[in-house]
Amino acid sequence: MTLTEKDARYLWHPYTQHKTAAPPIAIARGEGALLWDENGKEYLDAIASWWVNPFGHSNRFIADAIYKQLTSLEHVLFGGFTHEPAVRVAEKLLPMLPDNQQKIFFSDNGSTSVEVAIKVALQYFFNQGETRKTIIAFEDAFHGDTFAAMAASGISFYTLAFKGMFIDVVRIPVPTPGREQASFDTLESVIAAHDCAAFIFEPLVQGAAGMVMYAPESLDRLIQICKKNNVLTIADEVMTGFGKTGKNFACDYLTEQPDMMCLSKALTGGTIPMALTTFTQQLFDGFYSDDINKALFHGHTFTANPTGCAAALASMELLATAEMQDNLSRINQKHLAFQKRIQNHPKARTTRVLGTIFAVEIATGEDASYYGSIRTKLYNFFIENGVILRPVGNIVYILPPYVMTNAQLEKVYTIVEKALEIV
Ligand SMILES: *Cc1c(COP(=O)(O)O)cnc(C)c1O
Repeated sequence: MTLTEKDARYLWHPYTQHKTAAPPIAIARGEGALLWDENGKEYLDAIASWWVNPFGHSNRFIADAIYKQLTSLEHVLFGGFTHEPAVRVAEKLLPMLPDNQQKIFFSDNGSTSVEVAIKVALQYFFNQGETRKTIIAFEDAFHGDTFAAMAASGISFYTLAFKGMFIDVVRIPVPTPGREQASFDTLESVIAAHDCAAFIFEPLVQGAAGMVMYAPESLDRLIQICKKNNVLTIADEVMTGFGKTGKNFACDYLTEQPDMMCLSKALTGGTIPMALTTFTQQLFDGFYSDDINKALFHGHTFTANPTGCAAALASMELLATAEMQDNLSRINQKHLAFQKRIQNHPKARTTRVLGTIFAVEIATGEDASYYGSIRTKLYNFFIENGVILRPVGNIVYILPPYVMTNAQLEKVYTIVEKALEIV
């Protein structure tokens, strides 16, 4: 039996209708921006394996840090215990964040980092004797697949089967060009009509919605409206964090500061599953009490896993190097040049770039649904040509590892250009 046949016998894949999906590709090895399957076929990973891998596959620097940590302290429970890697992550990360971020809570993945933020928002008011049950979120938001994160997510594909089983979430329009005022006005009226605890958003770029982008000035305005009304703000930077937007964090483009931030994905350079949620001192103080019931009764077995912390420390060190910072601007320049190259193509309906993120919305005759036929055709075309890109409906986006070379980038651009001809 081949690996793929054995897989079909035993395994259940994410976001996959097994009856109609093509069998998965068995990847045997990775290096830099490249992956090789079991038959030796080469693939360019143009989406950094779901946005987690900025420093390239099998990165030696991170691997060595992990190995070193594994041979001194691989894990210890974080209830009643602490360790140096966790403290060092805080000491390294907090100075990179907006200066109101003072406390860190560790978890395992992006969804749990959001789950923690939402629970903290709800309990923060509960601890003050106030009931606030509503969370505000954007249309087409994606915040993860656990229950509160899923409730905040607006992409119906992910949430259809669970409708009516969620915490209260009210949606507002994303302030994309032309819709800014509608977004501000809806936020004001939602806050007036509901007992709102928090507003959660993907700052500047909605990843899973298809790299939908909006201006920092608009987000500043939305945060101001929340602040004025004592509604907490949660920046879900699980996708945008650690350089993707050209700055360390999308929040670095803002003048306002969120009350909480959610980080995961590139946190450990795509090596160990880890996430964290960060908070203002004020939020932490809202749980600080002689009353045990006011504590945050939330935790995960692998919270602050030292090996994950070591991987995060090595990743943050890599991100700060001149070489990696140069890569961020190099990729941005290349994206902008490519945008010029195709933006007048009759099949390129819209294009957008922020930092290392590029997206083109392809003009199609038929309606392009999230996992529709156009998407499948494009995906298969890219795979046949040895490039991993996962279009969202008719939107093709590129989010390369920062180590992708210019020649590799050019290969990706050429294949995207060719794709415009096949749809
Ligand atoms: C991927 C993602 C999540 C969920 O992270 P998981 O690690 O898949 O649970 C949450 N928010 C955003 C913005 C994401 O892109």
